[in-house]
Parts: sequence; structure tokens; C-alpha cells
Amino acid sequence: MMHYSEQEWMKYVKNELDKDVREDYENHLYSCDQCLESYLMAVEAEEDELPIISNGADFTDLVMAQIADVKMEIAQKPQTGQKKKSIYQSAFFHYSIAAAVTILLMTTGVFQSITQYAENVQNPNLQEEPSMTQGLVDKTFAWMDSLEMKNKEAGR
Ligand SMILES: [Zn+2]
Repeated sequence: MMHYSEQEWMKYVKNELDKDVREDYENHLYSCDQCLESYLMAVEAEEDELPIISNGADFTDLVMAQIADVKMEIAQKPQTGQKKKSIYQSAFFHYSIAAAVTILLMTTGVFQSITQYAENVQNPNLQEEPSMTQGLVDKTFAWMDSLEMKNKEAGR
């Protein structure tokens, strides 16, 4: 499998890639933990230009404010085809995802199980590539399974 370097992920984070290339990156990201790590590193390297999180409550407010802004933008210009900047292209969006993923991985320690799970679901006989959404759903289920197992163990 071909992987993207941290420098390449940096370009992705900075939104310096063409739309088609971006999609390739995103598709790969959903199926590759190694590149997810590189992506997180790239986001971390970009951190200086991004908002600083001093505490959880502030962060939540910041996210809610961001969502409200986007909603307002959509409500105000329902007919405009081209938006100035979609939420997916904003650095804040990347940072939010990276923060969420990092917290999840740190608190649950499921990185290993995700890798194993991904190996299990990669069926060479499969005709079609799983869709981006399917990949995300699979990962979410893997996390949930692992969390459930941990809870059961803790309950004993
Ligand atoms: Zn990769």
C-alpha cells in the first residue's frame, strides 16, 4: 500500500491540494491508521496557527460558536452556489477532528484493536472498495466494541 508522508498531509491540512487529490487522501485516511497518525502529526505541527484550548468548556463554546456561524452562513445565503470557505477546508475543522480522535485514542487505548480490526475487514475477495462512510462506520463500531469490552472487564 502506498502511504502519504507527513509533508503531504501538511499540504492537506493547509488545503493546498486539488479537490481530486484531497478525495484520494481522505479515502486513504479512512482505511489507514499509519496515515491517520501522520495526519494528526501534521495537524499538531500546524497548531501554532490554530486556536489554543485552555479548558474543555472553552473548547465546547468555541465549537458551538463555529457551528452557529456556519448555520448562519447557510441560512443567510441559501441561493449562493459558492461559499467562501467550507467548514471542511477550515483549519479549525481539522483541529477539531484531530483533537477528538487523539482524546479518543488516548483515553481508550484502542489504536491496536483498530489496526487489527482493519486487517480483519480487508477482504481480498471483495469486488468493491468500501465507501468512505462505510469505512468510518466500521471504525466507529470497532471503537464501540472495544469500549464495551473494556467496560465489561472493569465491571468484574
Ligand atoms: Zn497510509
